[in-house]
Amino acid sequence: MKTDNSRALFEQAQAFIPGGVNSPVRAFKSVGGTPLFIKRAEGAYVYDEDDNQYIELINSWGPMILGHKHPKIEQAVLNAVQNSLSFGAPTQREITIAELIVSMVPSIEKVRMVNSGTEATMSAIRVARGYTGRDKFIKIEGCYHGHGDSFLIAAGSGAVTMGTPDSPGVTKGTAKDTLLAPFNDLEAMRKVVENNKDEVAAIIIEPVAGNMGCVLPKEGYLEGLRELCDEHGIVLIFDEVMTGFRLAPGGAQERFGVTPDMTTLGKIIGGGMPVGAYGGKKEIMDYVSPAGPVYQAGTLSGNPISMAAGLTMLSLLNENPEVYTSLDEKGAYLREGYEKSLKDLGLNYTINSVGSMNTLFFTDKEVHNFEDAKTSNLELFRKYFHAMLDRGIYLGPSQFESLFLSTALIDNDLDRIIKANHESLKEIHG
Ligand code: PLP
Repeated sequence: MKTDNSRALFEQAQAFIPGGVNSPVRAFKSVGGTPLFIKRAEGAYVYDEDDNQYIELINSWGPMILGHKHPKIEQAVLNAVQNSLSFGAPTQREITIAELIVSMVPSIEKVRMVNSGTEATMSAIRVARGYTGRDKFIKIEGCYHGHGDSFLIAAGSGAVTMGTPDSPGVTKGTAKDTLLAPFNDLEAMRKVVENNKDEVAAIIIEPVAGNMGCVLPKEGYLEGLRELCDEHGIVLIFDEVMTGFRLAPGGAQERFGVTPDMTTLGKIIGGGMPVGAYGGKKEIMDYVSPAGPVYQAGTLSGNPISMAAGLTMLSLLNENPEVYTSLDEKGAYLREGYEKSLKDLGLNYTINSVGSMNTLFFTDKEVHNFEDAKTSNLELFRKYFHAMLDRGIYLGPSQFESLFLSTALIDNDLDRIIKANHESLKEIHG
């Protein structure tokens, strides 16, 4: 496969853009090689600057759940553009989308639109702190909540350890208010809460983790967090930037039947445009400025073009619940195909999947948390990633990512992915 144009562009990009990319994972650093520069995409396929076609399993890291260039979303954007790109003033469409989000997401009674998932999580934590009058919050090792300072905290040694900054530029002062607990471990979480009694404003969690690869909550775990938060007056925040509108119209909270106090959203909510949102109980959201004292603002928040794309996306999902049955079927079909290949090849790797999210971990250990995920053989993943790319399958360039399926994938695409997976596994095991 010829990728000369991507290679030349990457060379050029590195002279003007740090690392040649505008978001680090895109640089293929953990798998090696040159990132593909993308020229266009349609339906289930992306095309690079060398005109190679790939089947899409990244889908812009989640947003393109209906595939690329959905005609209705495209038309909504084109229509909105006619009326100017931005007003910085309220618009009717913002009410319509807010009303729709409230009707779709169980925990949300009021919602504020922002411009990214990062803004949503940063704001939600600030509101939870303002509401409770407490400073600390607990995050889960291996969960990602965007690049806000207080979220860039590495796992310490053990669940009750204070976080240490994961990135230069994050101060120790900031890091000390971020506490850590492992995913799927209620006992460890309880200890962190009890050791910081009356100091914890919030627990924030991806209800299905997608950022350590796909990791599902064990039965009773989310319910246990709910009880713990109720017991201690802690705001439970589900970060559904990935899972929102993906695992069900109401996200993971609908699928797993556990309602948090606040929810953060991104990705699908913008239909491909830069949008995030946070929402929750009225009582909490009324702390947000100008209704309440917690300041949060944005020049481009509720941007008319973004709202047009997002509103059309959410309306399509809301009006066509069969989308989720279809995505679940596609996910199950893919999983079956992968399982068959693993069996036929005598390999014992772990597949975690739910609905249209899926990760093949190169470990024979069950993966229930970040420590388990880290037992994966990253060298094998690196080879597998390139073997799949050579066969025209575009995966996230890291073991610690989930695949995102779209409705645009047809049976033939799924069979191509299964075949490529089989051949790639075979190739990397010599
Ligand atoms: N939260 C989760 C669960 C995410 O997966 C991401 C991004 O991948 C974010 C927050 C940050 O969103 P954004 O990249 O839009 O800032």
